[in-house]
Amino acid sequence: TASRETLGFQAEVKQLLQLMIHSLYSNKEIFLRELVSNASDACDKLRFEALNNGALYGDDSELKIRIAFDKAARTITISDNGIGLSREEAVQHLGTIAKSGTREFFSALTGDQAKDANLIGQFGVGFYSSFIIADKVTVISRRAGLPADQAVCWESAGEGDYTVEMVDKATRGTDVILHLRDGEDEFLSGWKLKSIIRKYSDHITLPILMKKEEWKDGEQVTTDEDETVNQANALWARAKSEIDDEQYKEFYKHVAHDFEDPLCWTHAKVEGKQEYTQLLYIPARAPFDLWDRNARHGIKLYVRRVFIMDDAEKLMPLYLRFVRGVVDSADLPLNVSREILQESKDIDNIRSGCTRKVLSMLEGLANSEDAADKEKYTKFWEAFGAVLKEGVGEDFANKERIAGLLRFASTHGDGDQQVVSLADYIARMKEGQEKIYYVTADTFNAAKNSPHLEIFKKKGIEVLLLSDRVDEWVVGHLTEFEGKSLQSVAKGGLDLGKLEDEAEKKEAEKAADEYKELLEKVKAALGDKVKDVRVTYRLTDSPSCLVSDEHDPSGNLARLLKAAGQ
Ligand code: ADP
Ligand code: MG
Repeated sequence: TASRETLGFQAEVKQLLQLMIHSLYSNKEIFLRELVSNASDACDKLRFEALNNGALYGDDSELKIRIAFDKAARTITISDNGIGLSREEAVQHLGTIAKSGTREFFSALTGDQAKDANLIGQFGVGFYSSFIIADKVTVISRRAGLPADQAVCWESAGEGDYTVEMVDKATRGTDVILHLRDGEDEFLSGWKLKSIIRKYSDHITLPILMKKEEWKDGEQVTTDEDETVNQANALWARAKSEIDDEQYKEFYKHVAHDFEDPLCWTHAKVEGKQEYTQLLYIPARAPFDLWDRNARHGIKLYVRRVFIMDDAEKLMPLYLRFVRGVVDSADLPLNVSREILQESKDIDNIRSGCTRKVLSMLEGLANSEDAADKEKYTKFWEAFGAVLKEGVGEDFANKERIAGLLRFASTHGDGDQQVVSLADYIARMKEGQEKIYYVTADTFNAAKNSPHLEIFKKKGIEVLLLSDRVDEWVVGHLTEFEGKSLQSVAKGGLDLGKLEDEAEKKEAEKAADEYKELLEKVKAALGDKVKDVRVTYRLTDSPSCLVSDEHDPSGNLARLLKAAGQ
């Protein structure tokens, strides 16, 4: 018909499809988890839109997911009565990858299948995982609010292109029809499909329906009777003792759109002025868009089990943007909108509660005696340490706690691993040492080889080596920890306090006198490039070094500002 169009996939989709079909072959049953997850998201979206437009429900307000199979046709169909897709939306969402950072992600692929397969987890597999077991996928969808003759049929063999055409569909929502590849007939079994649903999708809040089966003449046949396969009650609302780790992990994969297990989670019901349940997870690794400050945050908001919205950024501060999970409030109104959230005192309370909860979960790992927990904290720090550091300047109320969680490289160790806490540093301070010394530079090697460290090496004083971009911001906001002030070794007159050697100091003063003429000459030669030229005792090997004034930006910060065009 005239409405039929053939379109090419975005280059990244083609790459993803190739990678997926080859690398996930040993884990193919996840296609069902992904399609059920999308069906559930589609119902959530309908609910959200219907808050302002109840007519979208028509006469069908019981949201549900249905799974059916046809042995003769060798198909599996996943249906939902959620928001559906218009023709434009089908082209956009099923032909391109809209996530921010997609291009960067794909340019990071090496072409080495084993390595790249690992990267997929970071990206999330989603709809395209259908092609692991299907050699043709048909999506028939009708957007809520559109008439029956405005449905779309999207179809692809998962190679270079797909077709779209207008069709009729009697009901709202989406049918995804998988035409199985040869050899995938094991999935044409009610028992098999149900066991996959129970394993991966039990936590889905909507009922997932399948036809009941019965034995007839030694063969299993489907009946006309519906059966709800999943528990269909909200996982976070169940008692902790009734949820096992596997269920927590599967739920995480759904809310976080992640493919890997989370690093850790915390689940609690909070009572008091505000009543809410929080189930918060820390992913095992950084998402590819971690540095995209516009990327949405990963907390879903529910009110009394009813989904309200995704990406409720007000529920988590920016420096904890990697946290994923669910908050279910007992007090907020059901028709709460993003605008209302911006203003809400209740939300502010929930946010501080969630923030504290995440910080204490991290403290629990960091301070644990258990080697596995310590290992987790190290992994956490590698993935998210640089983001957590932002919190020092962002969250005044929790500054001290965040400072306690920070880890740095230092002259105590010899590698660039950030493993030294401020408390470790203080415990190792020399007799008479009053300050926490640090140096900032734009690379670890520059920090480690800074001439400013010479005097400290000589005296055996530990110095923190800061080379993350965010470190200047950290030391700009964190001036002390547990009563000890932080001091740059590259600034001012370097007051070593009681660590100072009187004899050395005298000698330097004497030298300053002796070399007065030379100092004047150097100063005149450098002109207004410098404020002052001094004799120093802080160097042992290098003949000279640059020092900034106590209240001026450090050399490193000045460089950063310049690079940023300020
Ligand atoms: P993600 O779920 O992480 O967004 P997917 O690849 O799983 O990525 O899905 C891509 C997009 O396709 C979804 O964001 C959604 O817009 C659309 N989509 C997929 N399945 C459905 C469905 N059953 N109903 C409506 N839209 C869907
Ligand atoms: Mg999805």
